Amino acid sequence: MAEINRAIKGTNDMLPTDSHKFQFVEGKMLETASLYGFREIRVPVFEHTEVFHKSVGDTTDVVQKEMYTFDDKGGRSITLRPELTAGVVRSVIEHGLVNGALPVKVCYVGGCYRYEKPQAGRLREFHQFGVECFGAASPAADAEVIALGLQVLDSIGIQNISLEINSIGCPECRKNYHKALTEYFNSHIDTLCETCRDRLSRNPMRILDCKSPVCSALAADAPKVIDYLCDECQEHFDKVKAHLDAADIKYTVNPQIVRGLDYYTKTVFEFVSGDIGAQSTVCGGGRYDGLVKQMGGPAVPALGFAMGIERLMLALANQNADFPEAKRCDLYIAPMGETAAIKATALCTALRRDGFEAQCDVCGRGLKAQMKYADKIGALYSTVIGDNEIADGKCVIKNMKTGETTELCFDEFSKQFMQIKLDSALSELEESFC
Ligand code: ATP
Ligand code: MG
Repeated sequence: MAEINRAIKGTNDMLPTDSHKFQFVEGKMLETASLYGFREIRVPVFEHTEVFHKSVGDTTDVVQKEMYTFDDKGGRSITLRPELTAGVVRSVIEHGLVNGALPVKVCYVGGCYRYEKPQAGRLREFHQFGVECFGAASPAADAEVIALGLQVLDSIGIQNISLEINSIGCPECRKNYHKALTEYFNSHIDTLCETCRDRLSRNPMRILDCKSPVCSALAADAPKVIDYLCDECQEHFDKVKAHLDAADIKYTVNPQIVRGLDYYTKTVFEFVSGDIGAQSTVCGGGRYDGLVKQMGGPAVPALGFAMGIERLMLALANQNADFPEAKRCDLYIAPMGETAAIKATALCTALRRDGFEAQCDVCGRGLKAQMKYADKIGALYSTVIGDNEIADGKCVIKNMKTGETTELCFDEFSKQFMQIKLDSALSELEESFC
């Protein structure tokens, strides 16, 4: 029987105590992407199953083993997105974005769903930040997207990251490669796992990405796609490297990288973290020049990457990274009695309309319990109002850290509170310069 008090295996709750960390990371991602001209796009969490079969590829692990697919009440086959590129491509074609001025640059943050064996850094619901650039065939675009990936990782303070790149060529140069690969794996056919035996005739490159230990051991000695590039793909790869060198971006060429999705062509890359154990790839990306056409759109080249947000959070946690402090309550107002409670509502509302986080008692508790709560939530200032304060039209607010007190008139409450906050910010600034 399903347990209703436990989240589904492989899913995580993001609790209010951690949300500011995710907001910081996601904010930096979108902000950095905008420096490169990428604008946010939001697409549905589910699509017609065919969208993923057509793009991610029928012979990939993702499609064969990992998708959450179901028939809806109308009898349509629906799939929860295992990644966002497919839906984004569907969307830019549907809305004709790739028919206008190119390049079109979009970025996204969103949940992804894969039926995988849950473990550290591998979830069934996880989140990706990603970018896609449509209409740019030049190697400069590859370097730009990689540079953006690196700057995003820098902006959130990730350390110990390395960049690995490879080229997996175009369909033309892959013909010879497929032949060599098929010959190689044919001579080891008895050792391959069952899925890979099927892949051998349909898509031998997918064997290179198989997670089974025997297949990956065989894959390590298989012919390398980088040795089979046609002149155009070789030149493209050399130019990508020249652009990366010009941008002073360090990389290593790793001929083993093929990426787990079928749509990639030419450049592929991964950012790998040295701080999170086995699931070390925090970002994967590359070119997918044939995908838009394959999905029914015009023939425009494209490229992008996706980062696993939970894996990045894991790396940051393992590095004891600093996050900006969580937002704190600016002023807690503790009323004593019914009349004061009504005044507290008025004061809180005025403060909130001026952009301050104000809270007051909404549980009908006594003063002691209220002050304990104000302390617990880390309120920066507090005040108590009762009959005397209401009669005088003013109250005393207390700085919870220093104990310093100041009198505020109800008539100009918000304005005077703003002055106190400004004074305190100024003196903090002065202290930091001393
Ligand atoms: P892996 O080889 O680790 O399975 P992948 O090649 O399947 O990764 P992509 O489809 O390229 O991954 O997704 C891009 C990024 O999304 C990965 O580099 C990773 O950071 C993250 N990611 C992928 N699958 C998961 C998952 N199940 N749980 C958490 N993060 C994931
Ligand atoms: Mg995977």
